Amino acid sequence: MRAVTAVFRERVVDLDAVTANVIRLRELVGTPHVMAVVKADAYGHGAVESARAALAGGADWLGVAEVAEGLELREAGITAPVLAWLHDPDEDFEAAARAGLDLGLSSLEQLETAARAGRGDRPVFVHVKVETGLSRNGVAEADWDAVFARARELEASGDVVVRGVFSHLSNASLEDDRAALAVFESALARARAAGLAPELRHIAASAAALTLPESRYDLVRLGIAVYGLSPFGGGSGAEYGLRPAMTLRGRVAAVRRVPAGKGVSYDYTYRTAGETTLALVPLGYAEGIPRHASNRGPVSIAGHAFRISGRVAMDQFVVDVGDLDVRVGDEVVLFGDPATGVPGADDWAAAADTINYEIVTRLGGRLKRTFVGGAQ
Ligand SMILES: *Cc1c(COP(=O)(O)O)cnc(C)c1O
Repeated sequence: MRAVTAVFRERVVDLDAVTANVIRLRELVGTPHVMAVVKADAYGHGAVESARAALAGGADWLGVAEVAEGLELREAGITAPVLAWLHDPDEDFEAAARAGLDLGLSSLEQLETAARAGRGDRPVFVHVKVETGLSRNGVAEADWDAVFARARELEASGDVVVRGVFSHLSNASLEDDRAALAVFESALARARAAGLAPELRHIAASAAALTLPESRYDLVRLGIAVYGLSPFGGGSGAEYGLRPAMTLRGRVAAVRRVPAGKGVSYDYTYRTAGETTLALVPLGYAEGIPRHASNRGPVSIAGHAFRISGRVAMDQFVVDVGDLDVRVGDEVVLFGDPATGVPGADDWAAAADTINYEIVTRLGGRLKRTFVGGAQ
């Protein structure tokens, strides 16, 4: 990573790590197609920049939840295939069709709306999502035949092209995921029986793509792994040769020397054990630092490992650094690549009883975002 002078508070996203992770993941999964999932602003990493970095690594599809997220990619000039799969009941499929977005559809109503958006000179490319166990969206088994038959009619009339049939897994256990794959197989058979020949069958996200080879089909939809993190709680991206792309850091804003027994931050949930130095870090829950990680969240200050002392506040938290000679302006790393000796997003996930996905995606507020690497 190129050196960048630390600022008050920022997340640094290493776009070369995103590219390298996609290259590595393509080797690992060996599928004809790889979709980089860049929903939710690429899990906090910056949708447009991360999408470009993932495409540079050989991803040939991009995945988003909402049409608006796909339109943002198009407005930035990204022409790669994009699939959007979670829609408002009044979603503007016309705009999606004009922008050439593929639509993941979960009901007959959505299929009809998409077909109307395509009526005219060009078909709308759709991927029918089937429910295989997760109980979210996806066409229920009882409706498969009706939806597949109607999709075939709309294909014949030139309104839609059924480019894909897909689903999503629970990761509850390998047995549960294998059971869902069996349901997916029967959906694919019923689609074929209805006369459909979807070019892209896909069901695996990062977890299944890494551990369940039979789930890979024609395309895998990779989110968290693209950003260098493991989809498994307690795991590490390094186990798969992946490198975390995001570093969250800031600079010490104030330092004070205090006696033993001094209360620290709201509610005095921390008291100093002896005379010590307290460092003030200007990141708080407004930036997405979990208050739940009060007294637990790990930080690296001037290369030394500490934990937050007391409550995380809206704008700031305090760290008891003992007798270390910490100065205003010293760099504080909350998380980054553990291989460089700093805490990882996984350590923060453990400290806040959550998952690394939430740690990176929830960041925002007044945080700057800086990119390093990439083609810029
Ligand atoms: C978010 C999402 C993914 C990516 O999941 P990861 O676990 O981050 O790889 C894939 N498919 C769908 C439908 C999703 O919603």
